[in-house]
This record gives sequence, C-alpha cells and structure tokens, in this order.
Amino acid sequence: MTALHTLSLIGIRDMLAKGEASPTQAVEASLARIAETEPKIRACLTVCEKEARAEAACLESDGPDPSKPLWGVPMTLKDMLCAKGVRTTAASRMLENFVPPYDAFVVRRLKEAGAIIVAKTNMDEFGMGASTEFSAFGATANPWDTSCVPGGSSGGAAASVVAQQAYGALGSDSGGSIRQPAALCGCVGIKPTYGRVSRYGAIAYGSSFDQVGPLARKVADCAQMLSVIAGYDPQDATSVDHHVDDYVAAAQRRDLSGVTLGLPREYWSEGLAPEVALACRTAVEQARVLGAKVVDISMQHLPYSVAAYYILTSAEASTNLARFDGLRYGLREEGRDLLATYTASRSLGFGEEVKRRILFGAYTLSSRYYDAYYTKAAQVRRLIQRDFQVALEHCDALLAPASPVTAWKFGAFLGEPLAVYKMDMLTSSLNLAGLPGLSLPVGLGADSKLPIGMQIFGRAFDEAGIIGIGAALETVLPPIGSPTSI
Ligand code: GLN
Repeated sequence: MTALHTLSLIGIRDMLAKGEASPTQAVEASLARIAETEPKIRACLTVCEKEARAEAACLESDGPDPSKPLWGVPMTLKDMLCAKGVRTTAASRMLENFVPPYDAFVVRRLKEAGAIIVAKTNMDEFGMGASTEFSAFGATANPWDTSCVPGGSSGGAAASVVAQQAYGALGSDSGGSIRQPAALCGCVGIKPTYGRVSRYGAIAYGSSFDQVGPLARKVADCAQMLSVIAGYDPQDATSVDHHVDDYVAAAQRRDLSGVTLGLPREYWSEGLAPEVALACRTAVEQARVLGAKVVDISMQHLPYSVAAYYILTSAEASTNLARFDGLRYGLREEGRDLLATYTASRSLGFGEEVKRRILFGAYTLSSRYYDAYYTKAAQVRRLIQRDFQVALEHCDALLAPASPVTAWKFGAFLGEPLAVYKMDMLTSSLNLAGLPGLSLPVGLGADSKLPIGMQIFGRAFDEAGIIGIGAALETVLPPIGSPTSI
C-alpha cells in the first residue's frame, strides 16, 4: 500500500470517505512525518498532537460523513490564524504566549468540514517578509534544499505540504505570501479575490491587502479547500456577499480552447533568472497546445508596484500594530510610567523588520509627508488597478512567473531589505488590484534543480476560471515530484 502521507488531499479524502483509512491513521501518518522532517525543515511552531488525536477519535466514533468534504484530513494553519485554545503567535515575541479564545472564520469552516488541525506553521513575523527568515522563532528550511529559504511569508505552510506533513495548509497573501512560497517550494497556492474569504480571526498586517487562501500539492486540492473557506461573513466588514462558484468542478477542466491568456511584457522582461523564464515559457507553450490563444500585452504601471505596495502596507501595518501596546494584548515589559511601558514592550516584542515598517509607515503618514508618499502611492494603486481592468477586458487571465529567481540561500540578503522587497515585483501588483491569482509549479530549474512557479491572474471573483486553467495545465506539465532528501 502507498504510504498515506504521499497521497494528495483528494486522494486521502476519498480513502477516508470510503473507510479505507481512518482519521486516526491519517493523523498518525502526519504526526510521524512531522517528527521525521521537523528537525530538518522546522516548518511548525506548534504541533497540536493531543488535539489532533482527540479530534480523529471523535470523528471516527461518528463514522464518515458525506456532508463533510474534508472529513478526517490533516491540515496546517499559518500561525496568524486564531485557533481556539491553541497558541497563535504570528511568529512574534509579542504574541509568544497568546492563546485565542475563538476560532478564525476559516478555521471554523475547516473544522465544520471535518478537517483536523495538526500544526501551526512558521512565517515571517506578522507576514512581513519573503523568506520566513524574519520569524522570531527561527527560520524554516526549503524541503528541496535545506540550505535554502522556503520563501515567505507563508514559508512554513508551503514547506509543510511539500514535506508531506499535511495534505493542505492555510496561508495568507498580502503581497505574494501564498504564491511565492508555493513557487519556491513546489506546490500550488491560491490568493483569492479581496473579500472572497473572511479575515475574521486572522491577525492583520495590511488590511486592504491581506487575504487568506489554500496551499496544497495539487490544483484540485486547493479548489476543494477554497470551496470550504470561501463565502460571506458578516463578522468581516470587507467580506463580499458574492456567489461562490463550484471550484471542485472547475478543477476538472482539461482543455483551454476559447481561452485568451495575456502575457504582460513588464513581467516577462528584465530581472528574471534564465531558468525561470525558460520553465515558464515552456508552460505557456503547453497552454497554446491545449488550445489557448496567447497574446502579448503591456501594463505600463506595473514597475511601480513594489514602491506603492511598501508605502501602503507599511502605513497600514503601523496603524494595525499600534494595538500591541503592552497593555491589552501580548507581551508587557513594565516601565516606570505608561510611555516607558509602551516603549519597553514594543522594543522587546517586535523584530527588526517589523520595527522598520512601523517607522516607515508612521513617517509616510505624518502630516508633512502624507501627500508626497501615501497619497501618491494610493494614486499609483488606482493606475495599476486600471491596467488590470483593461488587460482583463480582452484576456480571460494573465500569466507571469511567480518569483524572479528560485529559492536562495539563507542569509543571502541579510542586511539588504530593499533587495528582498524587490522579490515581490511579480506578485505585489495583484494585491494592489485585489484580484485572484494561482501559483502553479511548472518545473525544476535547469541550473538550480529547484522548483519554479508560474502565476495565473484572473478577474475579480473568477477563482473558478484560474483554477480551471491551472488544472488543465497541471495535467500536461511533467510533475516535479517530491524532494527526496528529507
Ligand atoms: N514579501 C511581502 C512583504 O514582505 C509579502 C508579504 C505578504 O504577502 N504577507 O510584505
């Protein structure tokens, strides 16, 4: 019999539903795999062994339930999603001992669908980073090469599914944090449309950017997870009451006839490693073979995305993180008066990158510089949104590489924050526009032998469209396999 941990999410789900494996067996397979791989990859901040075993036993006593599409399936959660009674840190000292009294909306939905949470995964502190090196609790390693980063900020999520610790993971994406680690680790990730998935109980970074979404080994796995977490939630003021399409059916698509795909020139030009350009171009050829019409387009404001993204998200982060004042939540370092308590708690609780962004954000929001930075960036955001709108009038979806390079070595950019910010050049525009995107593994680099991902961008609320395109392409691209060294 194939080892359970090697199955896809749909694979294990179907076995569980038919009674060919039990939730306890699935959970034990996950926990064994966590024990085996954690010393090398360190993807998890908290392993929920006791809770997972209890939940498996509880599901088992009731027997398979066809109304629960994730019945008995082990999953991981990025550690910025609140799970009742389980430590939730956002990888920050500030929240090192925070145990939420409630479940995030998406966590409740997963549980209601029968999923079992086996671990909370590592990330860049509060979602700020692209390598998971900015976690207060140490870096996660890439399962393909443990001397390399897994990407970020959902690096632990991507590493956990690729190392087969779990069948699916929830991450969050404010500027690429689902798509980029999915690309660097070699799994599928979906950033839904802004407002598609509730953020109730998700620890905020940049509120007009953040979206929660799935990472898993196959497109159909992500489609299944998305169908569980998508939908209106009155507890999140930005949640949109929009029809939820049948994503599972969309993942059955096998040809691309009648589909027009745009290649925005600005994403395919300078700055791409040759092996990335080659693998993505080969995938585009496959799309053509499947019947898609591929057109070259231009979106002239894309080169300004990274600048606009960092100005706006840092401004939002500086206000969002003001709540961590040493009084109401998290770490408190007592000072001789109120101001000293604020200062001491925040100095101790936040890491260097988080402090950098709070300072930067407070600066751009200051009355003297507000117009020069914040207002200007908001105007650029509007122009980028318009570029997407125009492009998606003629094209059903757009294609772009997910990262200019494959996974890099630990410490390669330490002390060079701007070099890391530039890594978001292919992903952050989508969050500025609020649109959905899927990252699909398209091959291993000819030189690096590390995974390469390509993004598929769609119209607002057309997750079904990009899932269909991703699923069709996935069936014709040679599978990249799994890392063998861990
Ligand atoms: N790399 C980006 C940043 O550092 C993206 C983060 C995210 O999507 N959460 O902000």
